[in-house]
Amino acid sequence: MSSIVSPLRLLLLGAPGSGKGTQTSKLLKRFPSINSLSSGDVLRSQIALNSPIGQEASGYIKMGRLVPDSTMVQLITSQLQQKNWLHSDATWLLDGFPRTAPQAQALNVILSESNANINMVVELDVDQSVILERIEARWVHLPSGRVYSLDYNPPKVPFKDDITGESLSKRDDDTAEVFQKRLDQYNSEIEPLKRFYEAQGTLHKISGNTSDIIFPKLETLILENFGK
Ligand code: AMP
Repeated sequence: MSSIVSPLRLLLLGAPGSGKGTQTSKLLKRFPSINSLSSGDVLRSQIALNSPIGQEASGYIKMGRLVPDSTMVQLITSQLQQKNWLHSDATWLLDGFPRTAPQAQALNVILSESNANINMVVELDVDQSVILERIEARWVHLPSGRVYSLDYNPPKVPFKDDITGESLSKRDDDTAEVFQKRLDQYNSEIEPLKRFYEAQGTLHKISGNTSDIIFPKLETLILENFGK
């Protein structure tokens, strides 16, 4: 089966609930050379640790608002350093960061210095009416970030993680009211972010209302550009 042969630094963009987490899991299975970092997962683990950043972030997250750019840039940059991802041979995937144009600009400066720029950005384009229906069915394994849907991708044992057997949870910010705020926030931030990556020539868009429709298109796009 074909694989990735040149360094891929991928950013997945998409509304909350568009399936970034699901596509990430599928990509990690299909391409073992990819590692991923989800800003939402990093924040949720900071909250679980009750760290100063976790305490700051939890208020914003509960309200469906974005955590301030400066906090996010600091947090994710230190993760990139710890993971040794700041070099030109690195292959990785970011999910959920950058989420605003100022975050993208700040990250771009850091990555450019290391010759490790993002070289593919993919917007997952899913109807927002479909997303709202789908979010009701979403359950997560918080420690790993694995996402399940009671409709499309149910766990093997009800409400238990397939790998660890631990209990699944509902995210606090997946209630209808907070979720609508998160969608509104996404819609107001996404255009400048897309313009930033369009100007860099890295932006692609994949449309589809289920992960089974989106994934093969994503796989093909990656192999066309970075595979053999
Ligand atoms: P997610 O799991 O990506 O949906 O993120 C959950 C929540 O974490 C978001 O609703 C935001 O409150 C916060 N968050 C995650 N990533 C970022 C980011 N790049 N910038 C600001 N806030 C973020």
